[in-house]
Amino acid sequence: MTRHLSLCVLGATGSIGESTLDVVARHPGRFSLFALTGNASTERLIDLCVRFRPRYAVLSGRTSDDAAVRRLRQAGCATELMFGEKSLVEVAAAPECDVVMAAIVGAAGLAPALAAARAGKRVLLANKEALVMAGPLFMQAVRDGGAQLLPIDSEHNAVFQCLPHDAAGRTHAREVRRILLTASGGPFRSVPIERLAMVTPEEACAHPNWVMGRKISVDSATMMNKGLEVIEACLLFGVTPERVEVLIHPQSIVHSLVEFVDGSALAQLSNPDMRVPIAYALAYPERVESGSRPLDLAALGQLSFEAPDPKRFPCLGFAYAALRSGGTAPAILNAANEVAVSAFLARRIRFSDIPAVIESTLAGVARIEAADLGSILAADAAARASAGRRVVQAIGRAA
Ligand code: NAD
Ligand code: MG
Repeated sequence: MTRHLSLCVLGATGSIGESTLDVVARHPGRFSLFALTGNASTERLIDLCVRFRPRYAVLSGRTSDDAAVRRLRQAGCATELMFGEKSLVEVAAAPECDVVMAAIVGAAGLAPALAAARAGKRVLLANKEALVMAGPLFMQAVRDGGAQLLPIDSEHNAVFQCLPHDAAGRTHAREVRRILLTASGGPFRSVPIERLAMVTPEEACAHPNWVMGRKISVDSATMMNKGLEVIEACLLFGVTPERVEVLIHPQSIVHSLVEFVDGSALAQLSNPDMRVPIAYALAYPERVESGSRPLDLAALGQLSFEAPDPKRFPCLGFAYAALRSGGTAPAILNAANEVAVSAFLARRIRFSDIPAVIESTLAGVARIEAADLGSILAADAAARASAGRRVVQAIGRAA
């Protein structure tokens, strides 16, 4: 039995956070909880503290909360509550912590994920936006810090499982011809394109196979999620964009494939349940029970595949273009997408405005070399400001 590992879950109150704690609870004695974090969901974080008794808990979106502290004490819980964004970085890089689950959504997760990488942790990366924004810098921090980076995104976890890798988690793709990332196609794969102007946030978040946070659900509906994942795959596995292709697979059973130079293709299959990649990464290089149902291929009967339609899913093309352009282009793409998706979720713009906002932001904000974190954060801020103006224009056009 491996020595028990001390775990920090960034984004513990979210969907990946919940699945992570579910796996942890199935293996008492294997992990101790060092820290859990949430942004503003105080109730949920307190409930988790009472149940899991972490050493620290961080409410990053607040500066203080005396009532929450009192409630923890009344429940007999010794967890120390911390506040503010800086506390995320503190717990992620703390010497007592071995493993960091990076499951904050969006650019907000970059600073603590980077801090964990620099501090040489085992980083379980769900927060793909951090890698998309700061790609080469993030990978350099992993190398410099001696961190172990294990992908949680189901596709990348599948690719990782199919690639040759050592016990330290280092992969190589020297004999790989192509990586095929599968995508469900989301809830709008076959609705008439004209209807996309009318779809609601509820429809966009009703993913056919996965239950996820709202932002990634919308990203799946536009397929920007797959675009971000293409960028993620190139960074994680050191391959060029030409070697990463996207394949629609509506059942979400085959989580991705790796085709080697000899024509063999390896795939990883499971039910669509994030506890599978989470358990894999938590226990790596061992395997442990995840709670997922056994795969019943006879009941499924058929697995189907098709090519994505670029007219229906223009965001995929924007992501390839940003990846090829390099520098701060992926950070601009990510920021524009975050602004557009949050405006759509707030019912300020239509679903079909999302690609338009992203495309015009990419055209309007100059891409520069991503020399350091400062230039990336400046590009992120410029893109957010520009995308914000385009959201206002889109509202004006609709009025
Ligand atoms: P979610 O919305 O359910 O949870 C997000 C978490 O981030 C919450 O704990 C929230 O409190 C925290 N958070 C939000 N804004 C924050 C801020 N400004 N500062 C600090 N914390 C903040 O999202 P999710 O579905 O769990 O996704 C989390 C990440 O994992 C995303 O990057 C997503 O792309 C990735 N991911 C999710 C899934 C999935 O199945 N849910 C699959 C693959 C990858
Ligand atoms: Mg994924």
